[in-house]
Amino acid sequence: MKKVLLSCVILILAFTAKAEFINIGVFYSYDIQSFHFQVRAGKYTLYSEQGKVKELDNSIPIRVDYEEGKVKIYEKGKFLGAFDKINFVGVGWYNHFMIQSISPKGLERRYDDNLKIFSQRKKMLLVNNIDLDNYVAGVVEAEVGRKPKKEYFKLQAIICRTYALSNIHKHLMEGINLCDEVHCQAYHGKSFFAPIVEAALQTRGAVIVDSDIQLITAAFHSNCGGQTVNSEDVWTKPLYYLRSVKDTFCLDKRNSVWEKRIDAHRWENYLQAKLPSKHVDSIEREFEQINRKVFFAAEDSGLSFEDLRHQFLLRSTYFGVEHRGNEVLLKGRGYGHGVGLCQEGAMEMAERGYNYAEILHYYYKGVHIIDLSALDFFKED
Ligand SMILES: [Zn+2]
Ligand SMILES: [Zn+2]
Repeated sequence: MKKVLLSCVILILAFTAKAEFINIGVFYSYDIQSFHFQVRAGKYTLYSEQGKVKELDNSIPIRVDYEEGKVKIYEKGKFLGAFDKINFVGVGWYNHFMIQSISPKGLERRYDDNLKIFSQRKKMLLVNNIDLDNYVAGVVEAEVGRKPKKEYFKLQAIICRTYALSNIHKHLMEGINLCDEVHCQAYHGKSFFAPIVEAALQTRGAVIVDSDIQLITAAFHSNCGGQTVNSEDVWTKPLYYLRSVKDTFCLDKRNSVWEKRIDAHRWENYLQAKLPSKHVDSIEREFEQINRKVFFAAEDSGLSFEDLRHQFLLRSTYFGVEHRGNEVLLKGRGYGHGVGLCQEGAMEMAERGYNYAEILHYYYKGVHIIDLSALDFFKED
């Protein structure tokens, strides 16, 4: 039954999901004690747990201070009240606001939609309650900047939307869905770059699912160095759509190759500590890695390239080794864990005219792009 329904669903070409809102903890790594809220577009109404406080226009900033576990608000120096929580709710057709921090000083960001503020763990938590696609546009800009082709922005929008929804409970205990750090997805506020905003809207509601209609783990990395990695080689869990693929699109990019020199004693000491004794003297100390390998030097060495990557803070696991006097020279390819979509390869594919669906299916094998509303439907099934 599911299969029949799925084939109907994937025929839907226009993504028509209704607006979904999501709660993002913003300025998450900061301890904001005091800031100004300024309306930049539209209209806002300020509510507290006691009800409506006032209507706001864009002429007067509202000062918000956190003192003794209470959120205190002021307008032009006049005290408006102390509350447990307040909500700035956009009530116009198109609403966005700016936050300018007073303590710590000098942070300034702009956001779409609504702002909720409440006290938690002796901190004031700032939460951007935002339309999913507005959030996706902000994330795409924070993650990849403005340089790529628009088709690439569409692809990245679908990936970031899928990631957000499959991690929607990541900060549940704190009363938010996601934070704005790389721990979840980097998000520095509203995108003002039209191709990115359009890409988010033109793919509205589009998410990637596997053959069981579950949101996929939409892994991506900067550059695979010419070959992506099977998921289980990094994270132990095999996922059928995260298979190693050869990639020639990323070979001549910023993050295609790297070199690192390491003190030979440090390197050898680590190998001696980690390799089984039967291997310590017998394995090759110098080698190239033509195709990606999981284990250092020999299949049964027990020492993975992933371990070495973490120990020596390497850009990738895709490297060979040469000895140069007191140093070892690691010659590597790619940047990142290597699983899933290779961003620099995908950007090159977009440059060459591939559409977002073609690029997506190149890196994620046997997945489907469906509308979020269909996903909700399947969830109820
Ligand atoms: Zn997070
Ligand atoms: Zn690549």
